[in-house]
Amino acid sequence: MRMQTSEMKLDGNAIGGLLREIFTMEVTDADATCAACGAVNPLGRTQVYVRAPGSVVRCPACEAVLMRIVRGEGRYWLDMSGMRTIQLVAR
Ligand SMILES: [Zn+2]
Repeated sequence: MRMQTSEMKLDGNAIGGLLREIFTMEVTDADATCAACGAVNPLGRTQVYVRAPGSVVRCPACEAVLMRIVRGEGRYWLDMSGMRTIQLVAR
């Protein structure tokens, strides 16, 4: 029996527990794949510029922007569009 797409579709609350697991992990040793050049580097080995508006993380191979983090009053904005993937290892 084939499952209909609408039967598998849930709202974003369905991944709440999964996201809580992921965002408590140590991420400096997570491997980030650059969307621009495909280089894979641990986040701890990237280039970080902290005097930009927020923090800007760049690829050590091609200097493309991997991530932008801005901290405001009681909130954070996280732009990870420069990374194709990030691989976190559970310990
Ligand atoms: Zn790159």
